[in-house]
Amino acid sequence: MTKPTASAGIAKAQCLCGAVAFEIDVPARWAWHDHSPTSRRAHGAAYATYVGSWRKRFRITKGKGAITRYEDTDGTARSFCSRCGTPLIYERARSPHMVNLPRALFTGRTGRQPLYHIGIEELQEWAYTGEPLVPLKGYPGVVWQRTKKKRRSAGDDPFELAREEV
Ligand SMILES: [Zn+2]
Repeated sequence: MTKPTASAGIAKAQCLCGAVAFEIDVPARWAWHDHSPTSRRAHGAAYATYVGSWRKRFRITKGKGAITRYEDTDGTARSFCSRCGTPLIYERARSPHMVNLPRALFTGRTGRQPLYHIGIEELQEWAYTGEPLVPLKGYPGVVWQRTKKKRRSAGDDPFELAREEV
């Protein structure tokens, strides 16, 4: 983490449908992977990767009226696009000067690599963590992890029958 410095550029982001766009001055303050259950659900993903920006270095450049806000009982607020549902802004009451933004929405560099993890003990056993992958025969564009540490239950693998038939 560093103190805010003079702007070295701008990083732009947008939601899936393009109704909402925003930008931050780079470098961002920091970036991290958030494995907490709340972020997992809010993103519908194994974990969320955020870029933290000082609020004063963050600007909504398009579609302010399309943003909907959900305030949780724990003092956090999550804003998302009312048209396409993309998560946009994650705010925490204890950090009023910061906004946390999904890294995936940025098209370019943000000046920070996500070197940190929050809630790593919540990493899901089904999350992909870089195991070697090989092409799946007969399914162009599909790769898979040939061996598993844990035995999968039958019916867990939609390609199981297809492989046996090959
Ligand atoms: Zn949208």
